[in-house]
Amino acid sequence: MILVLGLLIVFALILVMQPWKRRDCRWRQDARKLADGRVLFTCAACGAETALPKGRAPRHCLAGET
Ligand SMILES: [Zn+2]
Repeated sequence: MILVLGLLIVFALILVMQPWKRRDCRWRQDARKLADGRVLFTCAACGAETALPKGRAPRHCLAGET
């Protein structure tokens, strides 16, 4: 019974923490500036690209998102 309870707790922890979404992105600021003043960031780890206003940096990995 304790074993089952432990498995449930581990399962719940995995669901809450979602480790597969926590891939470390290495964001590099791209030299190309977008026309509207935003700066393009490219992830060296997964290749994701995102554009953010100047002065901001992306924190989350965008792998798998469109
Ligand atoms: Zn990434």
